[in-house]
Amino acid sequence: MSEINKPTRTRFAPSPTGYVHIGSLRTALFAFLFARASGGVNVLRIEDTDRNRLVDDAVENLLKVMNDLGIVYDEGYYLTDDGHAEEKGEYGPYLQSKRLEIYQKYVDELVANKKAYYCFCSQERLDDLRKEQTALKKPPMYDRYCRNLTDSEIADKLSQAKASGQNPVVRQAIPQDGQTIIHDLVFGDIAYDHKVLDDQVLLKSDGFPTYHLAVVVDDHLMEMTHVIRSEEWIPSTPKHLLLYEAFGWQAPAFAHLPLVLNTDKTKLSKRQGDVAVE
Ligand code: GLU
Repeated sequence: MSEINKPTRTRFAPSPTGYVHIGSLRTALFAFLFARASGGVNVLRIEDTDRNRLVDDAVENLLKVMNDLGIVYDEGYYLTDDGHAEEKGEYGPYLQSKRLEIYQKYVDELVANKKAYYCFCSQERLDDLRKEQTALKKPPMYDRYCRNLTDSEIADKLSQAKASGQNPVVRQAIPQDGQTIIHDLVFGDIAYDHKVLDDQVLLKSDGFPTYHLAVVVDDHLMEMTHVIRSEEWIPSTPKHLLLYEAFGWQAPAFAHLPLVLNTDKTKLSKRQGDVAVE
């Protein structure tokens, strides 16, 4: 494995949505045990970029659960004796909402290198597009309208946007041809044709990054050697690998964990009582 000579650094990167899902606990446990088994560092990073889903005290609650179960974080957030969440470590801040300037810098770099582009499309246009695609039984994807704007059109639209206080989003410019292969430590090699990958939003109009940008920038800057996370993120991983490539960074090793299911192999019920660790 390419990262074999570096000391292991793994992370658990939950979004603070209020309670700890039994599947997340399993992911956290694997990352912790993997770090311990290889004499490495286990990091807790909080991914709070989706501002609509925030819940008060979610970080404290999460840390209490982890403490009770003996899952220890060497870096990132930890619980003080009086029950407050604080951070420690050299790679902070470990709360993504405190890292907005960092993401902005990297998104600007992508735009300058044409690996990402401004998108000025209105919500109305995007909704219509989605309706059309759904009616045609096509997977909903952005049609790359703004990717084909000329430099002077972009300049005009940027100044209009500035005047009206409406910021554009920034989208990833996925290569049109070819494929990306994930070499997953659990699932093996998985190939994705680029044509099935959407030009994902990387930076939202409120200046917050999406998960996709933030996770790649942070895993790189925090020097993660192994990304251990749930299987549901596999379809996002080719986009992440393309971002590593766009930045000229070496990607960490990926290990996706199969979902925790009911005994009849159905997805665990979303009713909190069934899935919350507590
Ligand atoms: N914030 C994501 C989650 O809550 C993390 C996914 C990852 O580990 O990359 O599932």
